[in-house]
Amino acid sequence: MNDLFTKTDYSLYSNAMTFMRRALVKDPMSDNANVVVLGVPLDMATSGRPGARLGPDAIRRASVNLAWEGNKFPWGFNVFDKTNVIDCGDLVFDCGDAEDLTYRLELATAEILKSGKTMLALGGDHFITLPILRAYAKHHGEMALIHFDAHTDTYANGSRYDHGTMFYHAPNEGLISAKHSVQVGIRTDYERTENGNAEHGFHVINAMQANDMSVEDIVDQIKTTIGDKPVYITFDIDCLDPAYAPGTGTPVCGGLSTDKALKILRGLAGINVVGMDVVEVAPPYDHSDVTALAGATVALEMLYVWASRPVDTHAIES
Ligand code: MN
Ligand code: MN
Repeated sequence: MNDLFTKTDYSLYSNAMTFMRRALVKDPMSDNANVVVLGVPLDMATSGRPGARLGPDAIRRASVNLAWEGNKFPWGFNVFDKTNVIDCGDLVFDCGDAEDLTYRLELATAEILKSGKTMLALGGDHFITLPILRAYAKHHGEMALIHFDAHTDTYANGSRYDHGTMFYHAPNEGLISAKHSVQVGIRTDYERTENGNAEHGFHVINAMQANDMSVEDIVDQIKTTIGDKPVYITFDIDCLDPAYAPGTGTPVCGGLSTDKALKILRGLAGINVVGMDVVEVAPPYDHSDVTALAGATVALEMLYVWASRPVDTHAIES
């Protein structure tokens, strides 16, 4: 009876939810994990409907429905046999203080990277990716970005803390190389994405193209564009059609299906991914947790992509 409080094979719905039932480790540097899951409950930079601050919690709760599976379909292995993943809870910052959030998020990311781990961030609105990229670039140098979104997030005219401006600043700050970066699912911002990507320099596979192209062709274009740079993957859940992800602040019709997005992610197995995030899940507009489940599934598939990367310079596992 000694396992009354330590038994870990929970039922699907029992409490103390962490991402995929991983151990909660509040001081991630003390652990020899390979990947640290960090929630960033921010929605101050949202231009539309707020609510993404509740995203990390909803993604974690939805993820427990995925935690029972061993060798995952269709990968054929269990990522947690290969890699040690912990959840360190949510970033703590002064509520309402975007400057404090920005400072703490970059610092926390830098600490995690310095300790030889990588990070899977759960948003939160999409602004969180910018401080994260700043820490990553100091560690990995200029990266390629694979960006799933309905929006380009390359606007120059937003405030300093705006979830539509990160990828205007990121190339200008030298964090990512626009010409090695891809945006998938775009269906707004005609001026920037007309004729491919004339103005902002990213390779764009817009939503109409993505929905008509084969997964293989999309994956080929992504791999050709990123070259041999280290890759950061950011997945704004509004890349998916509102039918698959209604729970988000700025939904746009005509997006990708969950099935297609997951197949594209799986096609990226073998690239040199160094970091990843899932953002913009906003539970107040969700129904039946469909968006939270999509976010949890995308995050889990990213872990499989990460575990399938060719180089393993930061591996601690035995
Ligand atoms: Mn978006
Ligand atoms: Mn976005």
